[in-house]
Amino acid sequence: MKNIIDSEVQKGIALAMSHGPLRAGKGMVSGMIALFLANFCLLGVLMFQFPNYLTTPKVREFVSFDAMRVALLAAMVTCGAIAIFNIVFNRVRRLSSWALLWLSVALLISWVGASLAGRSWLSAGEIPTHIPYLGVDWLIFDLLATTLLFTTIEKIKPLKLEMPVFRKYWQTDFAYFATGHLLVGLTLFLVYAVLYGITNTATSIAPIAQDSVRGWIQQLPFGWALLLLMLITDLARYWLHRFYHETAIGWRLHAIHHSAEDMDWISGSRTHGIETVLSTVVILAPAFLLGFSQNVINFYILIAGVQAVFNHTNASVRLGPLRYLIVTPNFHHWHHSRDAEGLDRCYAAHFAFLDYLFGTAVKADKNKIWPNAYGVLGDYVPQGFWAQQVFPFLWSGRWTDEHGREHRENC
Ligand SMILES: [Zn+2]
Ligand SMILES: [Zn+2]
Repeated sequence: MKNIIDSEVQKGIALAMSHGPLRAGKGMVSGMIALFLANFCLLGVLMFQFPNYLTTPKVREFVSFDAMRVALLAAMVTCGAIAIFNIVFNRVRRLSSWALLWLSVALLISWVGASLAGRSWLSAGEIPTHIPYLGVDWLIFDLLATTLLFTTIEKIKPLKLEMPVFRKYWQTDFAYFATGHLLVGLTLFLVYAVLYGITNTATSIAPIAQDSVRGWIQQLPFGWALLLLMLITDLARYWLHRFYHETAIGWRLHAIHHSAEDMDWISGSRTHGIETVLSTVVILAPAFLLGFSQNVINFYILIAGVQAVFNHTNASVRLGPLRYLIVTPNFHHWHHSRDAEGLDRCYAAHFAFLDYLFGTAVKADKNKIWPNAYGVLGDYVPQGFWAQQVFPFLWSGRWTDEHGREHRENC
């Protein structure tokens, strides 16, 4: 029995670590949907169990626990029905069994948790305020919405037709997607906590917030305030990005983001944890200090998140003459290029004209619209989430080019 369980676990791990196109008509697509739903159910059940730590106050204002309960029940029923159908009709039985197992674990946790707390099944626990939270609800909504939106765009207008959804190293980028979201949520929470703490106790620390600039910004119509905030943050982001590329210490961190050799929507999530926290603080500091309204900042965070994902998509999008104004997948793909003309170019995240202004845009070549290859010149960044987290601290700074010549970064 133990051998059978061991062998099934090994095969399950091998399946999770595999990549490649899903074969249509064999139950692979529905099996994967069941498995993803089972994982969502597991996260959803934990959210109900620990709503104070795992749900976001802002999301709770818009989505009630009743609505979440209906969504969770629908996901459970759909997941169970697909998995049982596949098992009965001998379609991807192993994958479907894993989905059913995760679903059973989710059901067990919710039942035991509710019984121990003396609550009815799938009712939420107490929610005290002012404690740090991880925002798993936001992660689930965002993962579902971005997966649906961007895989559809990639199917409608693909740049590389042959790239499957589950391409090589998708697991690494998936780990970055999940941890990055939780890290940004936690950083924002801490930034708010520090700022509100500061303004409550020593208003002199935020002098800009008191002067006429703040008044001028606050009387701007929503759209203009949002555009201004995008411009200011993109300027901050442009120079921070150049710092990552042009200093040895910055590159140690940022090389991780450039290590992806396949560009698609989820590859943009690949960012070292320290860079994620640093960028979130540096980019949002002007927004807070200049006194932009909370609504403008929230809408900006949403736009910035969507555009960051869009810029990395495997989609053939250039936007005609607008490409000189707005950053497109074509523009940002050049930033990730390992071709000589693309190295240390195209830094902006929202407005492409910043790179034309500062002389860092890629020179147009009618015969070469897209780069040939992506990644880090020298291929010295290891693959895998944990290996990449320790890379900045352990790297010797040396790398060898394709001619065998050794190079050393100045660090
Ligand atoms: Zn970069
Ligand atoms: Zn990027």
